[in-house]
Amino acid sequence: MALTNTLLLLAQAALYFCVMMGLLRMRKQIGIGIFLCALGVMHFLETYLASVFYIELPFGIVSPGSTVLFSGKLLMILLLYIREDALTARQPIYGLLIGNFLMVGLVMILRNHETVAVTAGRLPDIAFIDEMGLLMIWGTLLLFVDAIAIIVLYEFLGDRFGRHLCLRFLACGAIVLTLDQIGFFLALHYVSGAPWQAFYGGWVAKLGATVVYTGFFVAYLKFFDHEESWISNRPLKDVFQVLTYRERYHQLLEASVRDHLTGVYHRSQYDREAPEIIRKSLEENRPLSLLVIDIDHFKQVNDRLGHQSGDEVLRSIAGLLTENLRSDDHLYRVGGEEFVLLCEHLPADGGVSLAERIRKTIERFSAMYLTEKVTVSIGISSAPADGETLDELFKAADLRLYEAKERGRNQVFGPQAAG
Ligand code: GH3
Ligand code: MG
Ligand code: MG
Repeated sequence: MALTNTLLLLAQAALYFCVMMGLLRMRKQIGIGIFLCALGVMHFLETYLASVFYIELPFGIVSPGSTVLFSGKLLMILLLYIREDALTARQPIYGLLIGNFLMVGLVMILRNHETVAVTAGRLPDIAFIDEMGLLMIWGTLLLFVDAIAIIVLYEFLGDRFGRHLCLRFLACGAIVLTLDQIGFFLALHYVSGAPWQAFYGGWVAKLGATVVYTGFFVAYLKFFDHEESWISNRPLKDVFQVLTYRERYHQLLEASVRDHLTGVYHRSQYDREAPEIIRKSLEENRPLSLLVIDIDHFKQVNDRLGHQSGDEVLRSIAGLLTENLRSDDHLYRVGGEEFVLLCEHLPADGGVSLAERIRKTIERFSAMYLTEKVTVSIGISSAPADGETLDELFKAADLRLYEAKERGRNQVFGPQAAG
């Protein structure tokens, strides 16, 4: 009898795991919604089973709903988090919470109906719906807390277990399901009068379920899945970062230092990193040049073509500059139509010839591809001859840029010419 019960539980866990894992695995092809809906549907069966459906095992009384479905669901949410991110994992967490409150709300209205029997002897059991409603609310609130707890715990244990994914998984399941069993049983006891043996039995069963699911998961990783991303060891910085935007954080950071129009680093990044680049370069006795590039008569370009076309011109020129960057060059948009190109390992004469190449490229490009000719003027300075700080170097280059403008624009003006 006990053996049959155990085997039946194992069969349920295997079926649940295979189907849910299959849906999770195929989420890129079929969409994550299918996995999430299946997870939600199981919640109903799970709560129903937990309120009335119990079996006996050698160590106590057990509910397949809590053992197979609840433990499975929590671990599935954790897997979803590991595979996707917190933003995805919070979808079922909030969806289940709201959906279950809605269900209970509807039941509160439904129970006021005068119902008629269409099949002899089959009347709705409103008392049972009442019990389930309370359990649903309590179970859903617990699930909400459990789901957040298991994700935070998973991150927290990362430091301890590192790459031992299966230990991490096991520990998370065991700890959170133990807390859950305490919480859920208290409600079950007061609502349905469940006997105390059910607590111990349910607890052992949940731990057993964690072991079985971890076993399935390890087998899955070994035979079906080789993506490294499962083993990602994300550091816990603060809960909010982990639970919501941690993964997007770096992308966001990168996007925020770039200018939206041109995709070039903007002024704040220039202020932040250029002084350090110059300091290092001088410290190591390497040559360095700074170019200030300003579009000629850009106001007129705007006036003639309109601001939007002006933006397009700006984007094209930024694109040309970006395409020709060497790995030691740093480009910043420091003003509306003014760029600074900081070139490591480039002495003054190299700076001047680079500036000349840029000037010609833009002149040629604009003649071929733009509705009107657009040119740039460039002032060049170099370290340490023109100064040792960003301010000094910029001032020197800017003065030469002014000189280039004075001399008729569409030209470069550097240290040699000055000397
Ligand atoms: P020059 O530098 O040759 O002396 O003449 P200029 O017309 O370029 O002079 P100035 O530097 O004073 O003017 C820059 C103009 O660039 C002013 C503004 O209308 C335009 N501008 C600045 N930022 C943007 C932008 O993001 N998009 C567009 N379309 N125009 C911009
Ligand atoms: Mg200009
Ligand atoms: Mg300007």
